[in-house]
Amino acid sequence: MSVRKKRILVTGGAGFLGSHLCDRLIADDSFVLCLDNYFSGSKNNVKHLLGNPNFQIIEHDITLPIHVEVDEIYHLACPASPVHYQSDPVRTVKTNVHGTINILGLAKRLKARVLQASTSEVYGDPEIHPQPESYFGRVNPIGPRACYDEGKRCAETLFFDYQRQHGLAIKVARIFNTFGPRMQPDDGRVVSNFIVQALKNRPITIYGDGSQTRSFCYVSDLIEGLVALMQTPADFLGPVNLGNPGEFTMRELAEQVITLTASKSTLSYHPLPEDDPVQRRPDISLAMQALGWKPTIPLSDGLIQTIPYFQKVLR
Ligand code: UDP
Repeated sequence: MSVRKKRILVTGGAGFLGSHLCDRLIADDSFVLCLDNYFSGSKNNVKHLLGNPNFQIIEHDITLPIHVEVDEIYHLACPASPVHYQSDPVRTVKTNVHGTINILGLAKRLKARVLQASTSEVYGDPEIHPQPESYFGRVNPIGPRACYDEGKRCAETLFFDYQRQHGLAIKVARIFNTFGPRMQPDDGRVVSNFIVQALKNRPITIYGDGSQTRSFCYVSDLIEGLVALMQTPADFLGPVNLGNPGEFTMRELAEQVITLTASKSTLSYHPLPEDDPVQRRPDISLAMQALGWKPTIPLSDGLIQTIPYFQKVLR
């Protein structure tokens, strides 16, 4: 007797994280429905899956309702790079609020388990370091990052209200900076910018004095964390931080990238964007305890795996 395959919806499935998640779920013998409007995602990221009988792609904007039949939903759809999410801030809010309501409505009708890809941005520019899930954050509600930060905070609110009001089976992950192959070269984020600049021997653009910190998680580690979270018992809802606690200044990152690419680039300093967080590092105690998960790939190893991808893309 054949067992019916699990059907899983990945919103934002053609994005950087979404496409890696589609790969991982298909490798696990699930049927994946990949939904994307290609605002920041790209069909290129999933072209190797086109024609796979366990993969279907639907072009759709989640700000409009959709009905499909699935057992589980990973809700990733939303541009995540400051350059992208600030290019049309009203649309970013609509994606996070209207879009999330549509996806939660779908999960409610289907009685499907639904996971929200939330973000370390809910902590804003944090005064508590490293950031535990219990920290409520310090977000400027009217600044240029607010469309994303407050949008994602509202999405978390909606998840927990649907859980309390309608008994939805929810999971909320707070994803810290993640990098790896399939980031777009013009994505605007620091890892992609620095690698592209280093490979072209162009100046490395450091915003501010480069003393601000971030913690970078390699994509395969992050994907394992998302899958582990989805599989936790029903009473574990999160939010739970997923990220690599290794913390680096942007100057340190630039130096590592220059060394690993054997680049002739020099550093060039530019104004710090408004509301740019000064420091960021996840406290991952909860993830380690509840998910039995921790990242395994340090920044330098991840960069060594990512640089050849950019070399190929730039060729
Ligand atoms: N950054 C930088 N140069 C760049 C791009 C970004 O110095 O070319 C800095 C940015 O100001 C921030 C950090 O790198 O302090 C991480 O930026 P990113 O946009 O990757 O992510 P986020 O700010 O959302 O963590």
